[in-house]
Amino acid sequence: MELACLDLEGVLIPEIWIAFAEETGIEELKATTRDIPDYDVLMKQRLRILDEHGLTLPQIQDTISRLTPLEGACEFIDWLRERFQVVILSDTFYEFAAPLMKQLGYPTLLCHKLEVDEAGRITDYTLRQRDPKRQSVRAFQLLNYRVIATGDSYNDTTMLMQAEAGILFHSPQNVIDEFPQFPAVHTYEELKKEFLKASNRNLSL
Ligand SMILES: [Mg+2]
Repeated sequence: MELACLDLEGVLIPEIWIAFAEETGIEELKATTRDIPDYDVLMKQRLRILDEHGLTLPQIQDTISRLTPLEGACEFIDWLRERFQVVILSDTFYEFAAPLMKQLGYPTLLCHKLEVDEAGRITDYTLRQRDPKRQSVRAFQLLNYRVIATGDSYNDTTMLMQAEAGILFHSPQNVIDEFPQFPAVHTYEELKKEFLKASNRNLSL
């Protein structure tokens, strides 16, 4: 039994915070886990910046409503789901991801939750657990699934290490250089081939 675990932002959809930073023109909001590996530090910085500018959840959701999956992402997901059980493991929040999940055909998504007050201000966030991507892979392995995982950034690397096979996709060069043990590819066609290589079944394109 094989399961495919995919990161969301940077792999299937654009980086939500970068899109919001571009719309608002706030440079500081462009930082992602590629820049600040500690997710708690990164999220606290993001919430502080939102507060400083008086920005609320509905404003971020408005930006998200105009985003579309990366070119080829929907076709890739369809291809993958014919060959693997697919689960998306993300450090985003359900409040952000919903409209994009519709466009991807509602794959299973495990992520985090925001705390929002009546005015729409994001007051805090609840991380599902520590090291959630790796813990999810561990849990699937306890259910006797063999896991092939893919992601682009620092917050994916423990998941890639825990999985039976890990693949870097769309990663910046610093991540590729720091984790040379993982194959690194940049197109969905190459990614399909890596999934086939990593599978212990005789699958074809
Ligand atoms: Mg990512």
